[in-house]
Amino acid sequence: MSTNPFSDNQRFFAPLGADDHARLDTFYSQMREAQKTFTGYPCNQIYDYSDLMRFMGLSLNNVGDPYGDSTFRMHSRQFEQEVIAWYAGLTHAKPDETWGYVTNGGTEGNLYGLYLARELYPNAIFYFSQETHYSVAKNLNLLNVRNIMIASQENGEMDYDDLRETIKMHRDVPAVVLVNIGTTMKGAIDNVQEIQAILQRLKIQHSYIHADAALSGMILPFVDDPQPFRFSDGIDSISVSGHKLIGSPMPCGIVLAKRKNVDAIARSIEYVGVLDTTITGSRNAISPMILWYAMKCAGEQGFRAIVDESIRNADYAIAAFAKYGIHAWRNRNSITVVFPRPSMETLYHWQMAPEHAIAHVITLPHVTPETIDRLVADVAKDHARDKQTRVS
Ligand SMILES: *Cc1c(COP(=O)(O)O)cnc(C)c1O
Repeated sequence: MSTNPFSDNQRFFAPLGADDHARLDTFYSQMREAQKTFTGYPCNQIYDYSDLMRFMGLSLNNVGDPYGDSTFRMHSRQFEQEVIAWYAGLTHAKPDETWGYVTNGGTEGNLYGLYLARELYPNAIFYFSQETHYSVAKNLNLLNVRNIMIASQENGEMDYDDLRETIKMHRDVPAVVLVNIGTTMKGAIDNVQEIQAILQRLKIQHSYIHADAALSGMILPFVDDPQPFRFSDGIDSISVSGHKLIGSPMPCGIVLAKRKNVDAIARSIEYVGVLDTTITGSRNAISPMILWYAMKCAGEQGFRAIVDESIRNADYAIAAFAKYGIHAWRNRNSITVVFPRPSMETLYHWQMAPEHAIAHVITLPHVTPETIDRLVADVAKDHARDKQTRVS
């Protein structure tokens, strides 16, 4: 018997031509090279899922709801359920009162949370801060709900005075607040307790809090003094990315919500024999296995080590910038280091996204101190050049 996990494809597939093969080889080398300067996006590059390669030879599909059985038996729901239960544990969601699924990424998880809120409170106003990820405004547009952007503070956190004054003017309708558990540019964490206090003081009858925890949803469970971000702190749903801190060759994520809310909007579809509770129909069955594998192999201890090392590297970067007299900073429990925007060449080389006058480096473990030294030297050169041209 062949050990090749892939079925014999010679009936329909001719072997790839030599030129095209060379193209793949070149592309692979280019991507390996690019990996060395991948510093501006929060996608962990260190993992080994080679055990799972054989599953690439199977057309698995977790279509629809991750619980219950499907007539489509080639699925990995049993692994998906364990991943959901594990993340529920990390976010203090009660196991039997919680529902969730493995998404295509943080954006889908946000869309799901906001969709749920809209189904529960169709006439609600949705509030989100200025520093919120661009995908949220798009999601709110798709959902066609009334929404208001709230100002942000300098550090990227929501401006609570603005939130209070704005909600005060709309006390007669439900309030849905999207809180950032780590903003994209500055890693800022909105204060869930403060937001709940505002909703209570204003006597808002119906409210819903969705947490966008794309990156920091996998940082806060592993620090000693986390800001409030859990179900036990009053959130109603949470979205985290799988390809960010955990690391995955394909985008993925986890969304969790309260089961009673999900049950209120579920619909059964006979065709696949499952509930059509998820945003997409067909769903990736490999990504839940990747997350499961990471959960088993890294586990609590491994993730704590990743987070510790990332925070140490963030402080290393801040100190490295300081040596050149450049002010870099980060929010508490964040691995996103913010500094003055460098030249276009530097941004391009180090694959960093700027925003107005700032840029950031995200110090996941593949961004080593040596990498940081080279990056900081490049940024410092830019700023020295800038200063010179301004003086002359
Ligand atoms: C990355 C990010 C998203 C989007 O997540 P994807 O997994 O890329 O879809 C949403 N919100 C925040 C704060 C992010 O940083």
